Amino acid sequence: MPELPEVETTRRGITPHISGQTIDRVIVREHRLRWPVTPGLEGKLRHRRVDSVSRRGKYLLLNLDRGTLLIHLGMSGHLSIVDDSTVAVRHDHLDIGLGNRLALRYHDPRRFGAVLWIDGDPWQHKLLRTMGPEPLGTDFNAEYLHGRLHGRRRNIRDLLLDGGIVAGVGNIYANEALYRAGIDPRRPAGRIGRTRLEKLVSAIQQVLRSAIEAGGTTLRDFRDSNGRPGYFSQQLSVYGRAGEPCRRCGSALRQQMVGNRSLFYCTRCQR
Ligand SMILES: [Zn+2]
Repeated sequence: MPELPEVETTRRGITPHISGQTIDRVIVREHRLRWPVTPGLEGKLRHRRVDSVSRRGKYLLLNLDRGTLLIHLGMSGHLSIVDDSTVAVRHDHLDIGLGNRLALRYHDPRRFGAVLWIDGDPWQHKLLRTMGPEPLGTDFNAEYLHGRLHGRRRNIRDLLLDGGIVAGVGNIYANEALYRAGIDPRRPAGRIGRTRLEKLVSAIQQVLRSAIEAGGTTLRDFRDSNGRPGYFSQQLSVYGRAGEPCRRCGSALRQQMVGNRSLFYCTRCQR
């Protein structure tokens, strides 16, 4: 599943090919994504210029000279840049053709993604309006987190996945950051002190930044005939390593299902 670092890598990969280009055609082959692709999308996008591409949480925003196109990659979505003559294959649901004879192509086998037109201020859109601060931004800090977690009894992992508290931190990176900060993912969020929250904030930022850096090596793959980069393999310390030895203390890592999503942790290193 594409997480924030993959979305950021995608943003960096597609930007040089689409920024400043004018959209000259739009082909929608499949409207049924998580929400239906905005009806009449071609009429709204044609002749629009792409001014920039930004990211908010796991959403990409194509900022046009009029309006915004919001794209979410869902569970299995992928964007690539192809020559506009490249034949579409199964699950290539949408093409946005550009003046430079390239096309931005959206591929999504499971169709949990979204491609939505926003007229007006994108930050007021219902999907973005209530989103918490960006984890890599300065608004996300121990003081903020302390305020938001105060009195909360739910486990810290669940609250890190709540996009209203912090944007776009998925299960993999929540588990990794909690391990790095030495915090038990099952701990009630309101019972974590300020100093440990400082560690947690910097751990979240470190794991995301290093994944984004690792993704930098795949950037060239956004512009090739196949346009199907596998997402970079991440250096994971706990996620998916149940039963394997903790790299710090050697004890076997544990896995536990909580709220339909696995927790991975070390009972000795995380309290
Ligand atoms: Zn350990």
